[in-house]
Amino acid sequence: MKPRLFTPGPTPVPEETLLELAKPVTYHRAAEAKAILAEVSEDLKYVFQTSQPVFTITSSGTGGMEAAVANTLAAGEKVILLTAGRWGERWRGVLKAFGANIVTVEVPYGKAVTPDMLAAALGANPDTKAVFATLSETSTGVGHDVEAFGKLVAKTDALLIVDGISGLGAMECKVDAWGIDVCVTGSQKALMLPPGLAFVSVSEKAWKKIDATPIRSFYFDLRRYKKSYAESDTPFTPANTLIRAQRASLKRIRTEGIENLWARHSRIAAACRAGVKAMGLELFAERPNSGLTVITVPAGMDGSAILKKMEKQHGFKLADGQDNMKGKIWRLSHMGYTDAFDVLGALSALELVLIESGFKVEAGSGVAAFQKAYAAK
Ligand SMILES: *Cc1c(COP(=O)(O)O)cnc(C)c1O
Repeated sequence: MKPRLFTPGPTPVPEETLLELAKPVTYHRAAEAKAILAEVSEDLKYVFQTSQPVFTITSSGTGGMEAAVANTLAAGEKVILLTAGRWGERWRGVLKAFGANIVTVEVPYGKAVTPDMLAAALGANPDTKAVFATLSETSTGVGHDVEAFGKLVAKTDALLIVDGISGLGAMECKVDAWGIDVCVTGSQKALMLPPGLAFVSVSEKAWKKIDATPIRSFYFDLRRYKKSYAESDTPFTPANTLIRAQRASLKRIRTEGIENLWARHSRIAAACRAGVKAMGLELFAERPNSGLTVITVPAGMDGSAILKKMEKQHGFKLADGQDNMKGKIWRLSHMGYTDAFDVLGALSALELVLIESGFKVEAGSGVAAFQKAYAAK
């Protein structure tokens, strides 16, 4: 059987990138390594849509989040946290660890934080130093209106700090134009690489705050990364094999073009949603993003058992809900190196398993609706 990965991280990796990972290990301070990092940094700026440097940190995405908090905030400073799920809660965890004074704007799982909620929180808390948001809430499939958040925050002295992990490279995100001061992403989502790298952009506004803030981390001290960046280097030994491989996946994005990439993701996402609805299933996210489709498990059904069957019988690995969402939702990723026919296969396998489990769905209904929606575009 052929294993097929549909989890919202890690995601499938293109063949030319996998081949890079098979090459002999090289020295990370050699001229060639620096040239590769320089190229990767330029391509990352393109993906982030920023003219500011994008720093490469060897860590999972959370390391990038920790860098954002540790560098921009002094203990006790006030922040507004916008949370709509598990990854907003990850921000909360990091912020707590660094002693932030957190004003929380929270919505139930499946809902999105609205710009109005942020406007009210900013109005009530004029001493806010930073607003923490999530572009794609991967635990629920919600996408946030970060562009609108940016307009509100730009009018204040606060920074807008965004977890773009799983969103960046799958849905529209323009770091400079939207006024995102610190944007974080990880390698294992839409950037088509295995886990292991975090990428962080920092605006001029954010640098002013960082330079006026006592540093509270050694490894994640962004000032060190900035200094090394000027020489196309990193302060510590980087996962240079991954950086070399990242170059290949970024070239793929460059070749496709970022607007085309956004359009491809939204077209597949819209078709997938049409397919899911035609199967008689419901979507979980009220404001779905283009990176993944989250499906509500029908009442009375053991969602986890269905996923196990899909994997065991057909090789399709979708993600379960996390924590208290386990068994209640199915998360189907279509970000990165995943095309329309991959998703058609996943819907087809889901239909087969649902039929076998006694759920009333007509074979081919989801697949047909996907094709119709896909063709209509
Ligand atoms: C995957 C993900 C993370 C977690 O990153 P790690 O690489 O596991 O540290 C954080 N935020 C979002 C939105 C994610 O999708």
